[in-house]
Amino acid sequence: MTLQIELNGVNKFYGAFHALKDINLAIEEGTFVALVGPSGCGKSTLLRSLAGLEKISTGEMKIAGALMNNVPPRKRDVAMVFQSYALYPHMTVEENLTYSLRIRGVKKAEALKAAADVAATTGLTHLMKRYPRELSGGQRQRVAMSRAIIRHPKAFLFDEPLSNLDAALRVHMRKEIRALHDRLHATSVYVTHDQIEAMTMADHVVVMRDGVIEQQGRPLDLYDRPANRFVAGFIGSPAMNFIPAIVGEDGMHAVLDLGATRARLALAAPLAAGVAVTVGIRPEHIRIVASGEGAFDVPVGFVESTGSATYVTSATRPELTVVETGRPDIASGERVGLAIEPTQLHLFDADTGKRLE
Ligand code: ATP
Repeated sequence: MTLQIELNGVNKFYGAFHALKDINLAIEEGTFVALVGPSGCGKSTLLRSLAGLEKISTGEMKIAGALMNNVPPRKRDVAMVFQSYALYPHMTVEENLTYSLRIRGVKKAEALKAAADVAATTGLTHLMKRYPRELSGGQRQRVAMSRAIIRHPKAFLFDEPLSNLDAALRVHMRKEIRALHDRLHATSVYVTHDQIEAMTMADHVVVMRDGVIEQQGRPLDLYDRPANRFVAGFIGSPAMNFIPAIVGEDGMHAVLDLGATRARLALAAPLAAGVAVTVGIRPEHIRIVASGEGAFDVPVGFVESTGSATYVTSATRPELTVVETGRPDIASGERVGLAIEPTQLHLFDADTGKRLE
């Protein structure tokens, strides 16, 4: 496999502000990469640097083997798809599509043929004579993507392309974008703050915080083995529960502290006795049992049902959230037991947040 995008030791400063810190990325051709992280983590800066819209301060950035550090945006052969679509309002869909080819000197008949081919792929054929204002949000997004596709770029760069769409359309469009990526054998870098989008669309997820890559890898590897507490809490919805705990004298168990109730749980691998740890447990790895029969005995704080799943949150500090399928008969104020699957514990250093095993 050839590397399509390579970043080695990339740093970006805006004045004194360090926005990207020693970023290393190696993206193989054909990969769908999601850059995900909270607002301000640097994901747009990274994407804009790839596009050439920002100049990196130090490090090396390569696209298809060629060093890009000083190459202007239009010569990078990448196509950016924006959240705002950035369509030309006074041009029809067809003109929006042919424009970038025409300014590169492609003959009119050839540009129209290319536009027709792309429109057939993206389902825009019947909308070619419309203006952007006459299109729905999803249709505009499709035009924006078509405009990127028509140039056969080396990589597609998506900057939160779905954030202006309603929830149902987002779910639909994320499948459409992924299918298009597969059909075109494209290399895509996709910025989102939505971890579900990242998990469902990408082959490779890059989790960022404060300009640093906290972890990168296959979506389910990040879910199953988060490298630190931040990634553990960021990936997964509802979020992983965290409980303070102390490792027991034998190093083989930990005492988890929920304030009014404590639980002694066996550890899969020994740790140093007396060490303070943070235990992570995902909501689907806790079960509600009768009061007195679980590891913890807790009062129920609130109960939320989506119809197919029920989220039960304990009235403890910290709160624990449990996901049950269906609609269990549980009410706020009731006491319940919480059974915890000991093989599913994640252990983090209480100070650094780093994964311990
Ligand atoms: P969001 O999800 O809110 O778009 P982001 O992860 O894309 O966030 P960036 O836009 O990459 O974040 O910004 C990263 C950091 O760099 C932020 O703290 C931001 O304030 C800062 N920043 C971005 N552009 C500039 C600029 N031109 N000058 C100074 N600081 C900037």
